[in-house]
Order: sequence, then structure tokens, then C-alpha cells
Amino acid sequence: MHLTLIPDELQFAIHLMEGCATITLNVQQKHINSQDKADHSPVTIADYAVQAYVAQAIMNAYPNDSMIGEEASSLLQQDEKLLNEVTQQVKALLPESNPDLVNSWIDHGQGQPNGRFWVLDPVDGTKGFLRRMQYATALALVKDGEVILGVLGCPNLPYAGHTGVMAYAYQGQGAWWQSYNQQTETQPMRVSEIKNLSEFRILRSFEDSHTDSARIDSFARQAGVTVDPVRMDSQAKYFLLACGQAELSMRLLAPERADYREFIWDQAPGYRVVLEAGGTITDTDGKPLDFSTGRRLNNNRGIFATNGQIHEEALKILQQS
Ligand code: AMP
Ligand code: MG
Repeated sequence: MHLTLIPDELQFAIHLMEGCATITLNVQQKHINSQDKADHSPVTIADYAVQAYVAQAIMNAYPNDSMIGEEASSLLQQDEKLLNEVTQQVKALLPESNPDLVNSWIDHGQGQPNGRFWVLDPVDGTKGFLRRMQYATALALVKDGEVILGVLGCPNLPYAGHTGVMAYAYQGQGAWWQSYNQQTETQPMRVSEIKNLSEFRILRSFEDSHTDSARIDSFARQAGVTVDPVRMDSQAKYFLLACGQAELSMRLLAPERADYREFIWDQAPGYRVVLEAGGTITDTDGKPLDFSTGRRLNNNRGIFATNGQIHEEALKILQQS
């Protein structure tokens, strides 16, 4: 597919990544504060501002689509100072914004996951964002349970001589990457062809509490992997898998959270990118990911994503680890 034939929805999603990175980089240049949500996970001004910005664009461009975003306005409704800071960030891109509009845009992201809907993680890997390490703005379009397109904006990810890259993919068409600062350049993404398990470069969560570190180590030993797994926050891991810089990305259920089911915004964008780059993604039981079960992947446990070369064999080793 040539760039001029790019579907409208994909062009729209790519274009939004610029504004999202403007917000996240701007917030990061100042001192970043985080608040704790009800589930004790952190949220920053950037999470809210990006969701407001993307939601208003979706409301304008695709008024019939619904949207599922990670954030809701409830905390902002109780904290005027925080709401004003968020509004200021949104205003830099959308001068007409005000606190009430910002709240209503954010809550557009509390839609129903039915029919055709957009899925947004405004700042995936908020903990990585706070550490000034890796994070991603991740956006996907889902229709009748199929992920049609996925875009990953990774403003802090170094790749091919650039810092700040984005990946995008459309079902059946392929995956591409480009840097933020050189908009003319766009390159196809392809997974690596490494078939030898002992050479696999493994990606895992930076946060121990998001995975099962002991089992990852046990898998690596059994598979004869000699390099230590790379710890990284967010779906930036899927960028690296899709562009051939790693062979495997694992999300294992943390022993203390065995009931955890993935949120769709943590998977849908990166899923489409990895598949279109030639990779394979299943859950840790080998089942295909089912995006038709609402806000979470209720039919799947954990995630196992590879370069597609020896997915089944690697998964068998995990199941014995
Ligand atoms: P990562 O940076 O790959 O560790 O993924 C970050 C995402 O993990 C966050 O956006 C959370 O939605 C999600 N998360 C939070 N708690 C857990 C958990 N116990 N197990 C797996 N993922 C989690
Ligand atoms: Mg996330």
C-alpha cells in the first residue's frame, strides 16, 4: 500500500499522534505530578489531556463511533486545580477548550464497546512516563470484534537513529514506522527471522507486579536463552518486536493477580502492528485474542507474542516452565 492510498481512519489516527506527543513532551518538560486512581495506578495531567484531545477529534470526525479510553473525569471533577492544569495543556492545541468541555471530552471515552469503536490508552506505561523512560500513546479501531487498525506513538523510543518513533498498521495491509520529526519518511516494519530459541531477545514488563518474573526466568533457562530479558514499559515493546529488534514479548499473570484480564487498550493497538509485521500473538494458552468481550480480554489469560517463527514450540516450553 502506498501512503497516498492510506485509509482515512488510519491517516486520522497517525495525524493525532503529533498532538498527543506535543502534550506528553510538554508535560514531561515540567515537573510531572501523578495522582493515584481508585485502583492505585498512577495518572498524570498528560493522561487526561491526551484523552480529551483524541476524544474531541473522534467526536468531530466520526460522530457515530463510540470510544473506550482508559481515563474518566471523576477525579478531575473533585480537583479544580488538576482540571485547570489539564485544560491548559489541551488549550495549547485546542484554544476553544474549557474545563467543562475537557471533562465531557474525556468522558466520551466511557462509551460502549459495541459495533465500531475506538480504543485509546492515552499514556500507556504511565510509570515509564514518570520515570522518563518508555511510554506509548496507543490507539486502535475495532469493528465487530476485529482490530482494524493500530497506531503506537512512542515519543521517547530510540530506533534507527531517531528518538521518537511511531508505528501504524491496517488489517491486511501491513505495518509501517516513521519518526516524529521527519514526516516524509515511512518504512515498512517486519519481524525478525530468527528461529533459534537460544537467540531470542525477550521483552517483558518493567514492573514486576505486572508479570511473573520467576516464570520468565524459568522459561529463559529452559529455552537456553542467554541474553537477559529486556524490561520495558508499555506497548513500545510491540514496536520493537514488529521492527525485528526482539523475538518475543511475554505478559504472564502475576501470581498474586491470577485473575487479571488485559484491558483492550493495552493490547489492541500493538496487536495489529505485530500481526501486520508478520508476528503471531496468542494468549499463554495458545488461544487467539478475542476483542469482542468488552473492556477486557475476558476470554484470554496473559499474552504471548512472537516473531511468528516458532510460536508453538516456544509456547510449549512456557507451558512446561
Ligand atoms: P506494561 O508497561 O507492559 O507493564 O503494561 C502497562 C499496563 O499494565 C498498564 O497500562 C496497566 O493497565 C496494566 N496492568 C496493571 N496491573 C497489571 C497486572 N497486575 N498484570 C498485568 N498488567 C497490569
Ligand atoms: Mg496501559
